[in-house]
Amino acid sequence: MRFDLIIVGGGLAGTALAVALRRSRLNIALIQRAVPTKAPGWDARIYAYNPASVAFLQELGVWERLDPGRLAPVERMEVHGDGGGRIDFSATEAGLEALAWIGESDHLLLELWQSLTRQHNVTVFAPAAPAACTHHDDGVEILLEDGRKLAATLVVGADGRDSWVRHAFGIEAKSRDYGQQAIVANFRVERPHQQCAWQWFRNDGIVAWLPLPGERISLVWSTREDTAARLMALPDAAFCHEVAGVGGELLGRLTLETPRADFSLRFMRVASVLAGRGVLVGDAAHAIHPLTGHGINLGFQDVRTLAALLAEAPAWQDIGERMFLRRYERARAEEPFMLQYATDGLARLFACRNPLAGVLRNAGMALAAQTPGLTRCLTRYAASGPF
Ligand SMILES: Cc1cc2nc3c(=O)[nH]c(=O)nc-3n(C[C@H](O)[C@H](O)[C@H](O)COP(=O)(O)OP(=O)(O)OC[C@H]3O[C@@H](n4cnc5c(N)ncnc54)[C@H](O)[C@@H]3O)c2cc1C
Repeated sequence: MRFDLIIVGGGLAGTALAVALRRSRLNIALIQRAVPTKAPGWDARIYAYNPASVAFLQELGVWERLDPGRLAPVERMEVHGDGGGRIDFSATEAGLEALAWIGESDHLLLELWQSLTRQHNVTVFAPAAPAACTHHDDGVEILLEDGRKLAATLVVGADGRDSWVRHAFGIEAKSRDYGQQAIVANFRVERPHQQCAWQWFRNDGIVAWLPLPGERISLVWSTREDTAARLMALPDAAFCHEVAGVGGELLGRLTLETPRADFSLRFMRVASVLAGRGVLVGDAAHAIHPLTGHGINLGFQDVRTLAALLAEAPAWQDIGERMFLRRYERARAEEPFMLQYATDGLARLFACRNPLAGVLRNAGMALAAQTPGLTRCLTRYAASGPF
């Protein structure tokens, strides 16, 4: 079977790319290991979508179709250091409707998959996975594990942090384990969160409470592996008590609404997102600590940029040609680099036990908090990326 484009990976980035190309002349194959399903109840895997991602999802016609009852705007955010430092962010003061919107991963992914079913230029191979890849001057052939063969002019790796495409195209990655796990869970709370998000930088990790619709919050607690193992092993009541205690019980008692889940955290960067007729988007191209909530927001901007380039290509253009794809690489060089290293710097600064680092990080927060122009800039940057 011959296609213009093969996308490997049907997570948020890969599916969004296919949807973004719905009006293009490109004939697309999407290969996804497992068909996404909706678990009953709430998904503990939540994301903070920044205004730039929301604008992109609106362009795709997907945002309007999401159930508004499953999305919560973040209007304020309090960030607390471990030695009294504090910075507050406000959407109103930054002239934004919301700093971010909190939503469940499966909620958005299923809506994107629904959009694919209405699309005529996409053939979905799922459940399926690539087994081998042969590179030719004018295209790439992919052999699926089930023996089917696909050929295309260009292959996009949207297959996450451990990308098969990255290996198959020989793209080298610099990767470092944080030696940390992120524990996530949703809770019912006793007092209204008033659309506020909280983040505490503590000496045992970084804890975020994110508002969910109604009297609910979502937790992301990034911490050392030994602490994570202890937290995961606690009985429910003790875990709720410990999480409520982080915020001094400011939202009253917490009750678990989903099981806990944990994710290992790793930094990963590639020297180039291109090799041969392959190109990377999303976590396949860059993995980032979740403390700034930028992972999929970066992924969506990769996809938006690549989709615009591919959709505008004239019919004679070879879309797998390196010179052509360099435009995508150049456009996406700066933002992931800056956010990855800024986030990594913060993660390391707050993981450092040196007392001098403690003084520095809290003094830095106090200085930023007392400089209104800087706080406004940080807010807009955190919400929308470079401006
Ligand atoms: C605890 C935590 C909290 C986070 N919070 C936020 C947040 O608030 N905001 C934010 O922007 N980001 C956040 N992130 C980051 C976000 O989860 C990732 O950036 C995002 O999931 C990456 O999407 P992706 O589509 O690039 O990759 P993935 O989500 O990894 O999707 C890749 C897809 O490819 C499929 N696949 C993989 N290999 C193959 C193969 N060989 N063949 C076929 N299919 C394959 C997989 O099944 C998967 O569906 C968080 C991450 C963590 C761990």
